[in-house]
Amino acid sequence: MAKVVIIGAGGVGTVVAHKCAQNPQVFTEIVLASRTRSKCDAIAAKIGSNRITTDTVDADSVPQLVELLRRHKPDMVINVALPYQDLTIMDACLECGVNYLDTANYEPKDEAHFEYSWQWAYKEKFEKAGLTAILGCGFDPGVSGVFTAYAAKHYFSDMEYLDIVDCNAGDHGKAFATNFNPEINIREITQNGRYYQDGKWVTTGPLEIHKPLTYPNIGPRESYLLYHEELESLVKNYPSIKRARFWMTFGQEYLTHLRVIQNIGMARIDEVDYNGVKIVPLQFLKAVLPNPQDLGENYHGETSIGCRIEGRDKENKHLTYYIYNNCSHEEAYRETGMQAVSYTTGVPAMIGAMMFLTGKWNMPGVHNVEEFDPDPFMEQLSVQGLPWHEAFNLDLEV
Ligand code: NDP
Repeated sequence: MAKVVIIGAGGVGTVVAHKCAQNPQVFTEIVLASRTRSKCDAIAAKIGSNRITTDTVDADSVPQLVELLRRHKPDMVINVALPYQDLTIMDACLECGVNYLDTANYEPKDEAHFEYSWQWAYKEKFEKAGLTAILGCGFDPGVSGVFTAYAAKHYFSDMEYLDIVDCNAGDHGKAFATNFNPEINIREITQNGRYYQDGKWVTTGPLEIHKPLTYPNIGPRESYLLYHEELESLVKNYPSIKRARFWMTFGQEYLTHLRVIQNIGMARIDEVDYNGVKIVPLQFLKAVLPNPQDLGENYHGETSIGCRIEGRDKENKHLTYYIYNNCSHEEAYRETGMQAVSYTTGVPAMIGAMMFLTGKWNMPGVHNVEEFDPDPFMEQLSVQGLPWHEAFNLDLEV
């Protein structure tokens, strides 16, 4: 018997609401709240469950969030709004005694920079309050950390090289569109690349390092080294890692559009004056780009995300290991009305909440997913629509 408040009614929020509704044995009451209530109402109507109610909140405002949580008294908040709202929602959770889960780490609006320090600073407060905060519980971050924890628990004594590989081989038929919030997405991939090597962070130019990697059921795709937030917690939690990197595929068409967007100043996040009105170019661009939630209908193909790990096994022998999930855009759309990028984020967010609410991941404090037991989560991944596969002692290509 548990009640959750989901904050954010975008692509990911839609999937989380669907999946919570599909698991009535855990989620007995669901509140979907966002800035625009009509979006919550439309999602609730589509799901058609009488266990979902909707509400409005501006999650930039702690007092509004506190009112929302006092009104509904949930056991947990699933935060799938934007990374800008993480700290206000964590503050409100502390004030109201509510547990917390999100899928992306905090990022200040005026600076394209993300790191865990802001949220890790809440550790003691959550511990003292006896509350659990689960950080980064989407696919990557999220399942990427659980896969790594599973590898460490069952196969490796020392993981030495970790490469997280993220391929979207889907085609939505648009000249240019992002698969999740365009503002957050473009901020992420136009930054410098960064990877971890021998105890230090090495910085590269944006998308400077790339190579073809072969993805199961897809084939070779050019993959670009990016900085991604889970690298920060994984190298801290697994000190045997000598090198950790993150790779993502992009098509040439996408990269050409991105280069133009940057060159003409549309990726800027500072305010400019337009006829006496202050606008942020990237936010304006978001308003004219296709809405990621509308891509699902014509999306074909699949995503493939996984971890390629090399190190010493439990008998101290050399081991290479690849663990991954492939997710079909068409199947995700049939089930939830959203494409696979929203699906692969929303399903793990629901499972993380399920883990907490069923007592399997109840650990007061602020934690990244790899700090919990991966086994019950991995069991649910297969049940809830994200089956995973493993391969041993193969050429990892990385
Ligand atoms: P969308 O832009 O589609 O949805 C965001 C939702 O949050 C919208 O409903 C929006 O409301 C709402 N929102 C924004 N600001 C506020 C606010 N101040 N108060 C209340 N609600 C607000 O994003 P996505 O669904 O694509 O992504 C959601 C989250 O998931 C993001 O944080 C993203 O970074 C993360 N993500 C994580 C991934 C992972 O694997 N870990 C992968 C993909 C995404 P409105 O409709 O009014 O604008």
